[in-house]
Amino acid sequence: MNTHGSGAGWAVLDVPLTATARTIRCEARAFARREIEPRAAEIDAAGRFPDDLWPKLGQAGLLGLTVAPEYGGAGLGYLEHLVVMEEISRASTALGFSYLVHSHACVNQIALYGTQEQKRRLLPGLVNGSQVGGLAMTEPDAGSDVLGGMRTVAEPAGDGFRLSGRKAWIANAPRADVLVVYARTDPDLGSKGISAFVVNTRRPGVTLGPARASLGMRGCQVGDIAFDGCHLGTDDLLGGLNQGAAVLMEGLARERLVATGGALGLLQACLDVTLPYCCLREQFGKPIASFQLVQAKLADMLADLNASRSYAYAMAAVHGNGQGHSFDSTALLLFVAERASAAARQAVQLMGAAGFDAESTPSRLYRDASLFTLGFGTSEIRRIVVGRGLLSASQARHH
Ligand SMILES: Cc1cc2nc3c(=O)[nH]c(=O)nc-3n(C[C@H](O)[C@H](O)[C@H](O)COP(=O)(O)OP(=O)(O)OC[C@H]3O[C@@H](n4cnc5c(N)ncnc54)[C@H](O)[C@@H]3O)c2cc1C
Repeated sequence: MNTHGSGAGWAVLDVPLTATARTIRCEARAFARREIEPRAAEIDAAGRFPDDLWPKLGQAGLLGLTVAPEYGGAGLGYLEHLVVMEEISRASTALGFSYLVHSHACVNQIALYGTQEQKRRLLPGLVNGSQVGGLAMTEPDAGSDVLGGMRTVAEPAGDGFRLSGRKAWIANAPRADVLVVYARTDPDLGSKGISAFVVNTRRPGVTLGPARASLGMRGCQVGDIAFDGCHLGTDDLLGGLNQGAAVLMEGLARERLVATGGALGLLQACLDVTLPYCCLREQFGKPIASFQLVQAKLADMLADLNASRSYAYAMAAVHGNGQGHSFDSTALLLFVAERASAAARQAVQLMGAAGFDAESTPSRLYRDASLFTLGFGTSEIRRIVVGRGLLSASQARHH
């Protein structure tokens, strides 16, 4: 039987991958083991992403996977992006989250919707790691109802726009150079009057708040942003005037696919840490792994990991072929995020007090896991999106 080559000496199903995805996975795994894993605990304790890792990720060719080579990228697809996200997150989920927001929510959105001028201006620095990117949609009063509750406005001013408002809980924001920002450009049109912009955070009128103290994902700095009459040109519009809702929703659907790699990496990390521990830790004169109730938890973790990985790679392949429904990636993240959260809970349980130690790996994984059922739309909102999508697909078939 083929194994995933976990490096821990035990068999994990080797879900078939394309040769390109397999190669990039090997490269990303080697990079993550060498550069990230040894620093994962330190990244969590410091609550800070080490600045030297960003250019290293760029040099390794991992920051612009879906960007065309003419802008410095690798010209690959979402399957490759997903497996790289998985390997980075397996080493440090917080760093993986920072990576996702930069390489997908910011870089991929610019690669998809940017004009040639925007791509030439913005992508090389983001792809080589000299700049950090983020995406700002959430506001203090606009969370799950992000379009309906949005108050940030970009009013016409001279030859461009004047951006005013507040964004909240934005990953990478305290150190971001470039942000994709959503704002109302025609308040009378509701969600059809929203536009996306690319904003250089050095502009006058942009204030980046400090990093918030968070439950988990501590190495990924998250903060608020204030825009006070920041001037933007028409060349900062991303995807056209009043096209923001489509840009945001299509972006979220793809982001949920790649974000699944983060939950997968976390699931794998749970097994990486608990299996060797259960084999070594002895109680009642035997390794705890010899007790069937312990084996049951490990078996559930392995089954969840194999099911999640098979589902994710199949979905990425389908997505790459342009097939499937827009809500498919939402269903995928819904499933894998909840399996990852369950595995993290069991990782703490399996290691007892050693897992409860604040500096232990299970404790970090448990805290980080809660983001996967909250960010990119909560589990509740994902169920609503999938339920509604199923209903309308079924109604469309019967008409
Ligand atoms: C660490 C972190 C990083 C983040 N990074 C970013 C980022 O980079 N960019 C960005 O734009 N945003 C970011 N966010 C924000 C994130 O997208 C929101 O937190 C998320 O969309 C949920 O919004 P909320 O927190 O305001 O929760 P609320 O919308 O206030 O929801 C609270 C609860 O009510 C439930 N609820 C709400 N509406 C319904 C409904 N209709 N039916 C049933 N239940 C409902 C929710 O499921 C949830 O359980 C981040 C958040 C966190 C925690």
